[in-house]
Amino acid sequence: GGKSYQFMLRTKQPAGKVSNKLYLVMDDLADQFGIGTLRLTTRQTFQLHGVLKNNLKTVMSTIIRNMGSTLGACGDLNRNVLAPAVPYNTNKEYLYAQETADKIAALLAPQAGSYYDLWVDGEKIMSADPPDVVEARNDNSHGTNFEGSPEPIYGTQFLPRKFKVAVTVPTDNSVDILTNDVGLVTITDDLGDVKGFNIYVGGGMGRSHRMEHTFPRLAEPLGYVAKDDILYAVKAIVATQRDYGRRDDRRLSRMKYLVHEWGIEKFKSVVEQYYGKKFENFMELPPWEFKSYLGWGQQGDGKWFLGVSIDNGRIKGEVKKVLREVIQKYNLSVRITPNQNLILCDVRKTWKARINKALAQVGLVNVRSLDPLSVTAMACPALPLCPLAIAEAERGMPDILKRVRALFEKVGLKDSDSLVIRMTGCPNGCARPYMAELGLVGDGPNSYQIWLGGSTNQTRLAQVFMERVKVQELDKVFEPLLFYWKSNRRNGEPFGDFTHRIHKELDTTPKLIS
Ligand code: SF4
Repeated sequence: GGKSYQFMLRTKQPAGKVSNKLYLVMDDLADQFGIGTLRLTTRQTFQLHGVLKNNLKTVMSTIIRNMGSTLGACGDLNRNVLAPAVPYNTNKEYLYAQETADKIAALLAPQAGSYYDLWVDGEKIMSADPPDVVEARNDNSHGTNFEGSPEPIYGTQFLPRKFKVAVTVPTDNSVDILTNDVGLVTITDDLGDVKGFNIYVGGGMGRSHRMEHTFPRLAEPLGYVAKDDILYAVKAIVATQRDYGRRDDRRLSRMKYLVHEWGIEKFKSVVEQYYGKKFENFMELPPWEFKSYLGWGQQGDGKWFLGVSIDNGRIKGEVKKVLREVIQKYNLSVRITPNQNLILCDVRKTWKARINKALAQVGLVNVRSLDPLSVTAMACPALPLCPLAIAEAERGMPDILKRVRALFEKVGLKDSDSLVIRMTGCPNGCARPYMAELGLVGDGPNSYQIWLGGSTNQTRLAQVFMERVKVQELDKVFEPLLFYWKSNRRNGEPFGDFTHRIHKELDTTPKLIS
């Protein structure tokens, strides 16, 4: 079959939870029907690349049979709901965030037609949703529903564009919370029980080149709701986007443009009409931190987890083989992180040494031996797998990292110095490059826009610094920047903070070594 008959399948698993069985099935399917590799994505899902049309039905029904995961089906515009992947199994707040991700995924899953009736060989396999989800979905007060429609939330026309939700706990920004249409943060009472959620709205990365009215945007605070109201509040936000999001121009149909155009106060008052209540004030939050969860950690239930760094989320070759052996032998479940890494869960203490030994053969254990640049780097699949790609990302990243590390040495930076690099093959921004300290966004064959000034904890947008830089020319731009940073940073100031602080100066200095 030609390229046009190859399909990319995207699974869904809120919080990146993958059962042992599903992992093994995906591993097999990649060999039998895909290109022999498994891809972890920035939305905590698997992608299976290169499935031929003739095999699509077999592959889909195999995944569905082994679920705990659903397929992202056509018309299903709510993308996988993010939550911290870490299995802190006795931490009430983490568990609540992860359960809420499950419920929101169920709430926003389309109900009608082939999606709802997932039948495999005459047997209905879709599991029933929890009662509070069903109740919130079907509650038609305040006009959030389309009455009599098989789609209680979406009606007949679904949402104008994809919709992204993330849930997390205070300080844990492993989910890139501000890049989502809706971001929820748990708030606890004095006993550590979750009592409600802070809600952010209007984040999103995608933009288009040479269209200034498209832009990446950070989500902003909407307000606070008690935990029992959270599904209703999310539904009211979705209904607002459903009814007012632009449908005349695809490029402007994400909810961020609605929030931008109206301003947060108007947006809030319209959502409140659907919600039927006022939002309470957004609660104060401690600063955000990036969390990778790499290396060994304790689950809290007597078992251990091991976060392993997967280069660009691509599980292939020996790494794939050894991971499979370990996951199968010890019957481990796994989690996919929003940074495209894998967490092996439910490890008994007595297995740790043997697992270490097995994984060490393929370089997967010693986090300290990894270049810190590669721990935080992210690239999207891009060429040749993504039809929207105009430049390399995943395939280009290893070389970029080597070159940046070499330049670090050349200008006298230390081995422990690092910065967050993210790279995408088009401005859609799947690997969230606009939050990076150094973002590379493909803007032509072998050429990139360079974005600077994001923060190490993903709370500030980068700004475009240069455009149409050929990949061979990148060093000439990076070297003076890195030297300037090394020479002028204040007290170990991170690269992103530095370039953000001196942004005006940068605009007036020569950008390239000639
Ligand atoms: Fe494809 Fe663009 Fe997303 Fe990369 S950023 S995966 S090229 S759509």
